[in-house]
Amino acid sequence: MKLEVAELTKLFPNYKGAAQDAITIRTIMTDTRKRAKQSLFVPIVGESHDAHQFMKGAIEQGATAALWQQDKPLPKLVPTDFPVFFVEDTTKALQQLAQYYLRKVDPIVVGVTGSNGKTTTKDMVAAVLATKYNTHKTQGNFNNHIGLPLTILSMDTSAEAVVLEMGMDRAGEISLLSLLAEPDYAIITNIGESHIENFGSREGIAKAKLEIRDGLKGVCIMDGDEPLLQDALLDEQTISCGFGEEADYVAVIEELLDEETSFTVNAVSYHLPMAGRHNVKNAAFVIALAEKLGIAKDGIQRGFEQIEVSAMRFEKHEGKNGSLLINDAYNASPTSMKAVIEIIRQLTSKTRKVLVLGDMFELGANSEQLHASVAEAVDEKIDAVYTIGNDSKQISEAVAAKQLGITTSHFTEKKALSHHIQSILTEDTVVLIKASRGMKLEELLEDLVN
Ligand code: ATP
Ligand code: MG
Repeated sequence: MKLEVAELTKLFPNYKGAAQDAITIRTIMTDTRKRAKQSLFVPIVGESHDAHQFMKGAIEQGATAALWQQDKPLPKLVPTDFPVFFVEDTTKALQQLAQYYLRKVDPIVVGVTGSNGKTTTKDMVAAVLATKYNTHKTQGNFNNHIGLPLTILSMDTSAEAVVLEMGMDRAGEISLLSLLAEPDYAIITNIGESHIENFGSREGIAKAKLEIRDGLKGVCIMDGDEPLLQDALLDEQTISCGFGEEADYVAVIEELLDEETSFTVNAVSYHLPMAGRHNVKNAAFVIALAEKLGIAKDGIQRGFEQIEVSAMRFEKHEGKNGSLLINDAYNASPTSMKAVIEIIRQLTSKTRKVLVLGDMFELGANSEQLHASVAEAVDEKIDAVYTIGNDSKQISEAVAAKQLGITTSHFTEKKALSHHIQSILTEDTVVLIKASRGMKLEELLEDLVN
């Protein structure tokens, strides 16, 4: 990133200090525990913390200027020449600054939203765009009203394309992100049940995802297999991708292997170094986008071979006794849980398949039912299902009710669960670990890895 402090005087005219001098800002500091030379300190007011109290630390850690909420007293320790910009709300000012910088650098902007698969699709899009453009992308999961502006503000001035993940917990949030970033292209990966308690229904979720069109300049690429998106797909500015024959981009799976997939999209063959049927659809979104940008098949395929996926998504570890552990404990919703179970079902390298599933949070009033629905993805190809937490008990009970001879058990403590799993690990065993982030199920790995 590169901005001159003087540029900020236009955006934030109420300032003090040497704001007109030639001072270059290279980065944004929101966390004063990390050193950041030549940074602009942006004190965010959060639910439990107000970073305004850390101004001293910010200056010690290399801040060369700061935004400041005007209703807060400025501490005396701030040197008189230190540029301070007074704003009504530091979070809004951060968003305003990000928009200014984005318009100035003016890259191709791609926004990715959806209930599941945002991060994976974002990583795929970035890999393919990187074959043609200098591409910047959201790091990890920085996808909200603070993470997205920080992503934009960490972009180099030479960026030619930027891929932004857009996440939401409630209605209106995607609209804000879209109006900020004004994407040239948007992708809606799917409609699931994540955070359904805040939306009331899947219809509510679909409506909120469609807010990505609020600031959109070009086409919206969407899941063509989702009934709730069919009305939106009537719009000329949309492209559908799916397994159904009526999609604009029709994906057909040829071979699903443990670590790779072969498929066609509109009869053109591709190879993906990733497992999972859902990733074929994610790839189809990327192909539709790449074609819009004039990236030919060879470029797309080259991009696919270079995908770098963010951590804790189908992360493989060697377990004790030669077993295989798969950590997908990054997050979970019924849709994504069923999608990974499907990969485990199809896995050929291990024959004994064990699922360790924890609670999925924020599923609202129907949480128990939604947990139980995961059992739909479980059949005799699975050997054992262990659950941990509260509502996940519904999963093991629903699996047991299917009477397929699958071992099931519910645990309330990680220690007991971990002991049990350790005792059943063999060379033929694969263990999938999946739950919502807050369950911290990856902690189980410590005792299970070789
Ligand atoms: P978050 O809301 O945590 O940011 P995300 O939308 O970024 O999640 P990813 O981290 O990319 O999602 O993927 C999470 C899981 O969702 C994957 O491990 C996979 O099981 C599942 N998934 C990925 N793509 C799809 C898809 N198109 N449809 C349904 N499930 C999917
Ligand atoms: Mg994500």
